[in-house]
Amino acid sequence: MKLDREIFHPSHPKHKLKLEYTETPFFCDGCKEAGIGLKYKCDACEFDLHKACALAPPTITHSFYNKCDFGFYYKTPGSAMRICNACRKDVLGFVYHCTRCGFDLHPCCANLPQTLNDGEHNLYLCLKLSSSCHRCGGKGLGWSYRSDCKNYNLHVACVKELLVESWQAIYLNVDKNKLREIQTRIPSLRGTLENHHRKRGGKVRKCCEIAGGAVCVIVSAILGDPTAIIAAVVGGFISK
Ligand SMILES: [Zn+2]
Ligand SMILES: [Zn+2]
Ligand SMILES: [Zn+2]
Ligand SMILES: [Zn+2]
Ligand SMILES: [Zn+2]
Repeated sequence: MKLDREIFHPSHPKHKLKLEYTETPFFCDGCKEAGIGLKYKCDACEFDLHKACALAPPTITHSFYNKCDFGFYYKTPGSAMRICNACRKDVLGFVYHCTRCGFDLHPCCANLPQTLNDGEHNLYLCLKLSSSCHRCGGKGLGWSYRSDCKNYNLHVACVKELLVESWQAIYLNVDKNKLREIQTRIPSLRGTLENHHRKRGGKVRKCCEIAGGAVCVIVSAILGDPTAIIAAVVGGFISK
């Protein structure tokens, strides 16, 4: 898809938004979630939108919910607090909502790729986990990514939780040192994965080697830009 360098967005009618690429996490003023990579930015204000939020089509369908028609809203209709069916986080802004079943999806969650590749293995987006998640140890609710070897499972929610903590640290204290929190927290996830595999012995050893790369691509996708370049950036954090 060819991207416009400048757009007008009805949620920010005063100024044009410009396409920009950033390796520093940002706060999306549309869905109120963190982002990285491509964004639409207002030069005059502190206003950023994920690519997926800025260019959200008015209606979408999703292969996980084939009876649903999702409409795009700036806020979920109704007053009740809503939770995203994919990542289990609160819906605080832009959302896709199915009025028939009440399902909600953040625009970036709705755009999560069905398949990611960390260079060696495919990771498949699943509606439900059949084995436990490497981070929380449960099967839980919400979507997840599963490796093709089936030994590696991670909830979208669990990756996001980790990122949100890091993001809040950065956002609340505008301090470049806080960026290092990402660098320390993401490897801590990798540590979890390695320990998990070590306990189970030799057979899954190969998978623990792919875990770092797998986390990279999942992180990039969740932040709204599943590109290899971002994966490489996050990968730089992980491999240290
Ligand atoms: Zn957004
Ligand atoms: Zn502006
Ligand atoms: Zn529905
Ligand atoms: Zn979500
Ligand atoms: Zn989990």
